Amino acid sequence: MLGLMQDQPLLISSLIEFAERHHGDGEIVSRRVEGDIHRYTYRDLAARSRRLANALDALQLQFSDRVASLAWNGYRHLEMYFGVSGSGRVLHTINPRLHPDQIAWIMNHAEDRVLCFDLSFLPLVQAVHAKCPTVKKWVALCDADRLPQDSGIPGLASYEEWIGGHPSDYVWPQFDENTASSMCYTSGTTGDPKAALYSHRSTTLHAYAAALPDVMCLSARDSVLPVVPMFHVNAWGIPYSAALTGCKLVFPGPAMDGKSIYELMEAEGVTYAAGVPTVWQMLLSHLKPTGLKFSTLKRTVIGGSACPPAMITAFQDDYGVEVLHAWGMTEMSPLGTLCTLKNKHLSLPKDEQMKILQKQGRAIYGVDMKIVDGNGKELPWDGKTYGDLLVRGPWILDTYYQGDSPLMPDAQGRNWFPTGDVATIDADGFMQITDRSKDVIKSGGEWISSIDIENIAMGHPAIAMAACIGMPHPKWDERPIVAVTLKPGMQATREELLQFYEGKTAKWQIPDDVVFVDAIPLGATGKMLKVKLREVLKDYQLPGV
Ligand code: AMP
Repeated sequence: MLGLMQDQPLLISSLIEFAERHHGDGEIVSRRVEGDIHRYTYRDLAARSRRLANALDALQLQFSDRVASLAWNGYRHLEMYFGVSGSGRVLHTINPRLHPDQIAWIMNHAEDRVLCFDLSFLPLVQAVHAKCPTVKKWVALCDADRLPQDSGIPGLASYEEWIGGHPSDYVWPQFDENTASSMCYTSGTTGDPKAALYSHRSTTLHAYAAALPDVMCLSARDSVLPVVPMFHVNAWGIPYSAALTGCKLVFPGPAMDGKSIYELMEAEGVTYAAGVPTVWQMLLSHLKPTGLKFSTLKRTVIGGSACPPAMITAFQDDYGVEVLHAWGMTEMSPLGTLCTLKNKHLSLPKDEQMKILQKQGRAIYGVDMKIVDGNGKELPWDGKTYGDLLVRGPWILDTYYQGDSPLMPDAQGRNWFPTGDVATIDADGFMQITDRSKDVIKSGGEWISSIDIENIAMGHPAIAMAACIGMPHPKWDERPIVAVTLKPGMQATREELLQFYEGKTAKWQIPDDVVFVDAIPLGATGKMLKVKLREVLKDYQLPGV
């Protein structure tokens, strides 16, 4: 017997319809590439998304055709989120920090039909357009009077002129909720990039889950600033959860430095922000010497790479801001776990609570996870045993776009996605990432977590950033070294830093050396690029080897 409830597909258009109807005057504020601040409402967003949908229809774009963006976080990009996917096309958000050859490669792989870009990326588009024969329309996200003359890009249109020529009446089409809605290429460091192809169903379910109190806890009372780019796994799904909750949205545009972010937060009463640790490092570095405090910020989600405990403590103790440590992947839409305490932890002393909050957290309903050994055997949840982390769920990748399925079946015939991360899970279900499996340091048959070594270094007052890598060793296979950058005006010696490790980790895990570098190489999404660091240190010799 089937249930007798209404069968309505979970479509992204339903999110914007809901936001318009129930939060029509909810504010969306954007710092524009032009430098000024733009304000409008969910009602305006919905109307302009419909204009865009009409413009795409007029272009005779087919169902599931790809429409690409090269854009910062801002209202026009948000309109693409709803107008492109809502009308049945696939939004392909491109990371502008990739190499131009890689951008051309993924645009051809995705067979993008339209590219809309912020003017900051004009030189990039000029460099790639001739290599992208599938694109039939190039659109600059600007007013007509700002459209560059003689750009060399054939038929370049202004977004405002383009969508302004189409009506805002539009009936969103209804279709199968499993239809593709958007795609994002992984920032993989080896081989060709691979794309996760999200569906309306996976995106909508993820939007529900992300808003839950023990997940990102978004509400109509929040003013939310996603620093995480809209080209990085859909800004962790915040645009969709925002429409679902009706929260105020604040977009930083291209101004991602600590000062600009801080000023925008204060001006717009931001209560909630989200970003990778490197971005928050910049913000904290701006605040510390100036003695500035947040007047409205209450919570921040930090993820994308391990959040150093020193950062959690700084936010909480110095600024009264709660840090929610999150873990996920492009292939997971991206949220997998978030770290919030359970009721039984509330009476624990603060330092015991901190030990829990440093972990990557508990699985969200919808995500199942387990750790396994090299033979695929499930390992115990004791908080000590580490193994390969596998996940499954309705917003987790099944097959790469035009690629393979990496899934691993278990004895019950259930399929698991191998994350490539190594982790422990404790008896309460809190997962802690030990490392990316390729970054873990194998020393004398034992594993050393590069994240643990980095976290300790980050606790030293002079250290701005730390990256731990394994170096070949004739006796131990590999030994860890830690490359560090110093905070401006601060000093520290190698001996002092090695001393700092004493008592904080087992003796054999203490790095063999500290290397001072000017900068740690960062990848396109602000994560440390250890592959690059290994290249930089290719002539390095371990002391005494
Ligand atoms: P991406 O798909 O580029 O976002 O990268 C996903 C990978 O980032 C994960 O598989 C992890 O290795 C890493 N990652 C994400 N969040 C965290 C976190 N909170 N702690 C440690 N590693 C993380």
